[in-house]
Amino acid sequence: MKKHTMEDLVSLCKRRGFIFQSNEIYGGLQGLYDYGPLGVELKNNLKKSWWNSMIYERDDIEGIDSSILTNPLVLKYSGHEDTFSDPLQDCRDCNSRWRADHIEEGKCPNCGSENLTDPRPFNLMFKTSVGPVEDGSSFAYLRPETAQNIFTNFKNVMDSTPHALPFGIAQIGKAFRNEITPRNFIFRVREFEQMELEFFVRPGEDEKWHKEWTEMRLKWWQEQGLSSDNIELYHVPEDELAHYSKATVDIMYRYPHGLEELEGIANRTDFDLGSHTKGQKQLSIFSKVAENTQSNAKLAVQDLETKEWFLPFVIEPSAGVDRGFLAILNEAYEEEALEGGKTRIVLHLKPHLSPIKAAVIPLKRNDSNIVEKAVNLKNKLQRTISGKVLLENTGNIGKNYRKHDEIGTPASITVDFQSLDDDTFTVRDRDSMQQERVSLEEIRQFLEENYEI
Ligand code: ATP
Repeated sequence: MKKHTMEDLVSLCKRRGFIFQSNEIYGGLQGLYDYGPLGVELKNNLKKSWWNSMIYERDDIEGIDSSILTNPLVLKYSGHEDTFSDPLQDCRDCNSRWRADHIEEGKCPNCGSENLTDPRPFNLMFKTSVGPVEDGSSFAYLRPETAQNIFTNFKNVMDSTPHALPFGIAQIGKAFRNEITPRNFIFRVREFEQMELEFFVRPGEDEKWHKEWTEMRLKWWQEQGLSSDNIELYHVPEDELAHYSKATVDIMYRYPHGLEELEGIANRTDFDLGSHTKGQKQLSIFSKVAENTQSNAKLAVQDLETKEWFLPFVIEPSAGVDRGFLAILNEAYEEEALEGGKTRIVLHLKPHLSPIKAAVIPLKRNDSNIVEKAVNLKNKLQRTISGKVLLENTGNIGKNYRKHDEIGTPASITVDFQSLDDDTFTVRDRDSMQQERVSLEEIRQFLEENYEI
């Protein structure tokens, strides 16, 4: 099997309509990408799979969807105003700017000069003005992570649902970071999506839950098709931990450009609930909170037996949708050698992630009987299949198979002259390229049994 490169993935994404450079007709804007017709389907399927595993398959997690524009006080008390920065260095010779930890051997990655400024912190948050006055008196941040509005809604969710600890709040949504050097396609961008869970537990049970969530998240990524050979866990050393974290394990994936973080699972302790409680001037901060807790503490919970108030600890699995997309694409992509020296590109996507679940292809695009039969079959299947069933009435059959191999459609169903006589169709399997004749009565069940669609 030929090893592919990032360029192969980028080229497939553009050619088939998964991902385009954003604002391309005006020269683009660095670090932004748009998802095209197939990309939005795959991305939605990935998010749906995460949501299913968090919200529907468990009874101890609730979902929310909060605002992107964020009151600066939230990000002041969360610590982001002071510490959410990367070290920035300028090259005095070519004027390029770099993240200090991306510079190797003290040399500018652009021109090789050693004439660099000292590193200085560069805050990654985007600001925008709110309301009609633009004098800076009224501004908001675009959230740099979805987590903070989970913390600020902690009490709202607790009070409106019947949960006791441990329980979680999950959210999927956009986050924005003014990355110094966006790069590697959709791996490091300035506008991206996160899938975040804040799982609230009793202090003392945090380490056990941290381990458990790390294992559950690993298993979930494997269920999305990532091979364990391409995943490594990285226990972040103390001096690299984010300001809120007691311990972090990163799930690292072997991308075409190298082994890098796909998801971080952090033990955020009671840092955030403590900070926001302090922000409301009701409690002192962090671990001292345990001694000082009072029943009026906005973000504390009460132990129903001892009647004591305490701040829950929180375990946070935080995954990037775009980095997940790239990992899944990388894993699924194969340039397969065929007999006779030919090759085909095939995306071995798990069917639940495939943008198109099945393609219905009339053998002759101008034969109205065949086309009508194909339309009826498409409509029949679409009524019970969650996800797109595509009527592919566009060209010769070989070209259609090639296309659906490349975009990862698990099954291509051809309607031919025999179908007119006996209501049977050939179903071609993407991975094995085997064809099987299946009757109209059996086809729905056949797809379910073979592809779980
Ligand atoms: P990195 O060290 O790579 O900059 P991070 O440690 O700052 O990442 P977190 O703050 O832990 O990232 O964010 C959680 C997740 O959000 C990451 O694991 C990643 O999947 C995603 N993410 C973070 N920054 C970006 C970005 N600029 N582009 C795409 N996804 C991102």
